[in-house]
Amino acid sequence: MAKRLLDFRSDTVTRPTPGMRAAMNAAEVGDDVFDDDPTIHALEARLAEILGKQAALFVPSGTMSNLIGLRVHCQPGDEFLCEAGCHLFHWEQSGYAQIFGLAARPVPAPDYILRVEHLEGLPRGDRDNETRTRLVCLENTHNRGAGRINPFDNIKAISAWAQANTLRRHLDGARLFNAVVATGIPARDWAALFDTVNICFSKGLGAPVGSALAGDKETMTRARRIRRVLGGGMRQAGVIAAGALYALEHHVERLAEDHTNARRLGELIAANDGLTLSPAQIDTNIIYFEVAPRHGTAGEFVKKIATQGLLVLPVSRTHVRAVTHLDVTGDDVELAGEILRRVCPE
Ligand SMILES: *Cc1c(COP(=O)(O)O)cnc(C)c1O
Repeated sequence: MAKRLLDFRSDTVTRPTPGMRAAMNAAEVGDDVFDDDPTIHALEARLAEILGKQAALFVPSGTMSNLIGLRVHCQPGDEFLCEAGCHLFHWEQSGYAQIFGLAARPVPAPDYILRVEHLEGLPRGDRDNETRTRLVCLENTHNRGAGRINPFDNIKAISAWAQANTLRRHLDGARLFNAVVATGIPARDWAALFDTVNICFSKGLGAPVGSALAGDKETMTRARRIRRVLGGGMRQAGVIAAGALYALEHHVERLAEDHTNARRLGELIAANDGLTLSPAQIDTNIIYFEVAPRHGTAGEFVKKIATQGLLVLPVSRTHVRAVTHLDVTGDDVELAGEILRRVCPE
């Protein structure tokens, strides 16, 4: 029998479950460009309800969702404030600049957690020679921050500060439901602190494709038009929306298992000489660890354990990322621990 591949590279590697495939197979579809697809409508309505927003828009990817989220709040030449390590600044090719002529104003913050004190005094635009600041973007949970949860009260303070400064507020909530399950604070409470929210179905929720942007009706009407120019009008996409809807109904509460598995995997990683959790804290489903030079570079170490059937992701010369998800069981985590112990003898 083929050895089971232990794939901890990302929570995007999940395969649709039989139940999800059945839902996708049975999905009623229409032409979404004609706004005719009942399954997409059902998904958008359900997500809007969960987030307490007036409307939502299904899009192919989180990258497109964030890009639209930026454009609905900013005109060409405007800037947005964001934490310097966030996904939409780091890993989305500056699409906001390439495609829409927007400027990012990245703000460094310890542990990737932006606070009001970092933002104070930054908004500008009263003078003719200034760039106008329109928007604040936050990410929760934070991808490069090892799945860190931005504390609710901190986000509440930033949200109030943004309103006092007439700035709009966008949340990259690719993994918002991980924060919801880990804290017990409902999604609608987090979402209420933002004008627009991006949600990814293809991360921890385990759907094969798709993200959505949620906000008020007027903003989502404009978002729909922007989706079209980006090539995001997808016709009978109810087939994939059915997977996302299934994920929303069946895969939210179970994220707690991913968090338990991540904490256990963290223990098993840290038990080896020359592997150090960095950061030490594991809030949700993402682990970063540092590889001591005697194990080689992170890339060399990752190659070595891949030959044993354990896949993780090198993220720098010294650091590696491991992520738990729907296709990882508690037994898989123990097996991963055994492989690491073999590869890192005392
Ligand atoms: C994955 C991710 C995105 C982008 O999603 P894609 O579907 O890969 O385009 C955006 N933000 C965060 C925090 C992510 O982890």
